[in-house]
Amino acid sequence: MRKNIIMGNWKMHFTIEETEEFLNSLLPKVKNAKTEVVVCPPFTSLALSSNILKGSNVKLGAQNVHFEEKGAFTGEISPNMLKNLGVSYIIIGHSERRMYFGETDETVNKKIHMCLKHKFNPVLCVGESLEEKESNNMEKVLTRQIEKAFFNISEEDAKKVVIAYEPIWAIGTGKTATSFDADNIISFIRKVISGIYNKEVSENIVMLYGGSVKPNTIKEQMSMENIDGALVGGASIVVEDFERIVNF
Ligand code: PEP
Repeated sequence: MRKNIIMGNWKMHFTIEETEEFLNSLLPKVKNAKTEVVVCPPFTSLALSSNILKGSNVKLGAQNVHFEEKGAFTGEISPNMLKNLGVSYIIIGHSERRMYFGETDETVNKKIHMCLKHKFNPVLCVGESLEEKESNNMEKVLTRQIEKAFFNISEEDAKKVVIAYEPIWAIGTGKTATSFDADNIISFIRKVISGIYNKEVSENIVMLYGGSVKPNTIKEQMSMENIDGALVGGASIVVEDFERIVNF
């Protein structure tokens, strides 16, 4: 039985004060959630969030990590720094990082290795652009992203990776994939995983859909066979919306 996860990616939003206000308002509203609930604040809010979340049912995630243990990497954050703060999940290879910050399939693979070494659950983001979708290259792109991300990852470790299917054309645009399409594509991703490993691994990996998830789309999305949860951007920084998504 796979876990259900609703994860909020705050991106570059919320100061310390805003973080405190948001979490104090959210926690009582989601305390009876039936899914795992995760928030991924920016790095500057992780320490405070870690304190506020203690004793609650909400887990802490980070939006990125560096693939080296330590060293001269100005501006980067190491796995140990995150471990120390009680982070459980780390988003890896978000399309915004691939697009604007030079993240490649190779750095994604290195980061997944580092996450697993430090016993985090990496949340691997994959997804096609509109151009790739319209030129019928979606399956090719997804296969490449997944094969490269899982390069040299053992069967046992592969099961700890969460995959978020996030079509780039649906992120922050208000356009969402239909639940039927998202389910079909995630089923295709399971087949790719099964080809790399086996059916048992592919059936054990938690797979999320992300891309303009809103309170009015979540119920149907969660009813689909292959979709185990959601990675939520815009709606995760509005208490009322995120609460309704979590308590769908
Ligand atoms: C995201 O950033 O992962 C995301 C899915 O954003 P949004 O929900 O705003 O489309």
